[in-house]
Amino acid sequence: MSIHLLDAMAREGFEEVTAIHDSRSGLRAFLGIHDTSRGPAFGGIRRFAYRSEREALRDCLRLSRAMTYKCALADLPAGGAKLVLIDRPDLELEAAFEHLGRCIQRMGGRLFTGPDLGTGDAELAALARFTTYVTDPGPAGPGELAESTAAGVCAGIEAALIQLDGEADWPRRTLVVQGLGEVGSRVARRLVQSGARVLAAEIDAGKAERVGYELGLERIDPASEYDPPCDVFVPCAMGGILHDLTLTRLRCRIIAGGANNVLARALHGDRLHQRGILYVPDFVINAGALIRGATFHLQGVRESVATIEARVGRSVARILSLAALEQLPPARVAVREAERQLDLAHVGEGEEDEDTL
Ligand code: NAD
Repeated sequence: MSIHLLDAMAREGFEEVTAIHDSRSGLRAFLGIHDTSRGPAFGGIRRFAYRSEREALRDCLRLSRAMTYKCALADLPAGGAKLVLIDRPDLELEAAFEHLGRCIQRMGGRLFTGPDLGTGDAELAALARFTTYVTDPGPAGPGELAESTAAGVCAGIEAALIQLDGEADWPRRTLVVQGLGEVGSRVARRLVQSGARVLAAEIDAGKAERVGYELGLERIDPASEYDPPCDVFVPCAMGGILHDLTLTRLRCRIIAGGANNVLARALHGDRLHQRGILYVPDFVINAGALIRGATFHLQGVRESVATIEARVGRSVARILSLAALEQLPPARVAVREAERQLDLAHVGEGEEDEDTL
């Protein structure tokens, strides 16, 4: 591998990166704990058929750092982590997740984990047999995670429309939703209920048909999802979709959605800014599930979806108005603001250390 891991960790402020291997189940995974100066680390488990260890490690580093930023900007007493698991056909899934459960339990509450791509209810149940530091998908857990994310996304879209036009004015708006999964279908439902015109693209034809029919959406071919003129493009599928090829196709004024790590590289946020497209940073707008999960685990409270909606709306409005004032790309401003919060926490830690000497 040609990643200089310790150099990358030092440069980006990582506390810990662990490789996890279990020959019985065939588990090969990386755990990244980025920064716990504000509180214990939160991050889901992503199971994906990575083409190489290098690709998995990179994803782990990128996603865990974004989780720290997400926690800081949502003002949660928590930090960021991510577990990435290299999927392959001979992996014994149940045993692999049980092994991870034992690893997480041994960490004694330094890490809380939950669902992500490739980790659903069955995998969470296998984890929960060996650790208490995992989100229960049933009635004993925080519940309404995707609904919390969707509510925050819609509040963030509203904040962006108000930032540009002074009002949301939903009946005059056209939005393109990419992906009609857990988050995208709920976002689409809320937008339709607001009176907006909603176009939707979904690569799973059966799901597209079912959800599209139920919500009365105008369906578009995923091959042309970046092309329609619209007010808002709403990415709710995979990360890394905004790159050199897609940027030139977009004909929207705002990009704001639930998907994580939408920008292929940070410079694509700068290019959107140069093109006059308002990009709402993903880790600000999609924090709803994290807020719901973290407040449940840390304070024993299920924060209401309406409260989360208002909270995310305020947070998006703050970043967008700072960015407008300074004429900077919102993604750059969001990273800077998150790092400021972390600097404050690090100063606090230093003072505590001095007290105990
Ligand atoms: P999901 O798997 O339920 O839905 C994703 C959907 O996108 C699927 O239906 C898939 O078929 C579709 N899709 C994939 N590529 C597509 C493409 N090119 N065009 C159109 N459709 C495509 O996942 P989800 O839980 O809804 O999460 C969606 C995104 O939001 C992910 O990036 C996830 O990391 C992020 N996210 C989710 C939550 C949450 O609460 N579930 C919270 C924060 C962030």
